[in-house]
Amino acid sequence: MTEARAIVFPQQSVFPQQSPDMRPEDRTGCPWHDVKSMLRDVGLRPTRQRMALGWILFGKGDRHLTAEMLYEEATRAKVPVSLATIYNTLHQFTEAGLLRQVAVDGSKAYFDTNTSTHHHFFVEGEDDLFDIPGADVIIGKSPTPPEGYEVARVDVVVRLRKKG
Ligand SMILES: [Zn+2]
Repeated sequence: MTEARAIVFPQQSVFPQQSPDMRPEDRTGCPWHDVKSMLRDVGLRPTRQRMALGWILFGKGDRHLTAEMLYEEATRAKVPVSLATIYNTLHQFTEAGLLRQVAVDGSKAYFDTNTSTHHHFFVEGEDDLFDIPGADVIIGKSPTPPEGYEVARVDVVVRLRKKG
């Protein structure tokens, strides 16, 4: 009977609950086919546009995209969608906890498919945002929040430029 025990894997239904630290692909095991259940899990109706944008966003592993970048990809993928819809969808996904917004400049927001706690490098001039590996960030003593508040999250964006 040890053989039988050795091939028992946890079923996907073990992970129906949404943990903020769990990425969609961890949750479903297969991002490409599970956008629909991912949307349903967070209470968003799986409309065709949300499905299409969800596939583009979550089908390729961890990504950092601006609304404009997603718009370009959607257009290339022949998904008929306006930039306004892209913005709305990105914000809905963010509110639902599927994406994390990373503000780099006042005008520029990146949307991260990895919603777990991590920090970013940003290459100035190249508009490239990528993860700082591991917990490789030095943050001094956490500031004491004002009375009645707690620290929700610490976002660190380390800005880089080419040496020269
Ligand atoms: Zn990231």
